[in-house]
Amino acid sequence: QAFRDIDLNEVITSVVDLTRHRIELQDLYFRLALTPEPLFVHGDTNRLQQCFLNLVFNAIEAMGPGGRLEIVSTAMAGSRTAQVEIRDTGHGIPQKHLDHIYDPFFTTKAMGEGTGMGLSIVYGVVKNHQGEIEVHSEAGKGTAFIIQLPLAASTT
Ligand code: ADP
Ligand code: MG
Repeated sequence: QAFRDIDLNEVITSVVDLTRHRIELQDLYFRLALTPEPLFVHGDTNRLQQCFLNLVFNAIEAMGPGGRLEIVSTAMAGSRTAQVEIRDTGHGIPQKHLDHIYDPFFTTKAMGEGTGMGLSIVYGVVKNHQGEIEVHSEAGKGTAFIIQLPLAASTT
């Protein structure tokens, strides 16, 4: 593992670059709102990329044309935390599934379309970075995943 001080906004930008084509193909409304200043965290670029890629793909897969995807980063100076929120207006997660979404192999997708590994990887990466993950979802309305990671010690 290669932990160094990295700009979380750059990680998000690279994930957006990887998914922009799909976002356009699916006719989604997309809003990206990143902090004007770099958001330094102590982390592993590849693993964090994989984490956010999984979250963005899930959001895209939950929506049809005209859906709205938003990615927002914020710095919480008081708690020395970087926060990234990924919101979609997709089909949402039913209450009864919320306790299982981070379990390996839990999927509601058709055979061959989902392995159910995405969110268990996301959870592992977040925990490995001393972070927290929260989900808010309402069936039929949409879902928001909120990731919080400690700001790098060197950040003033
Ligand atoms: P997979 O995408 O392969 O099904 P994941 O671990 O990424 O596996 O997600 C597990 C399940 O959680 C999905 O099958 C889906 O039911 C639910 N889920 C995850 N993200 C979302 C989302 N943004 N909107 C609706 N459901 C979601
Ligand atoms: Mg997935």
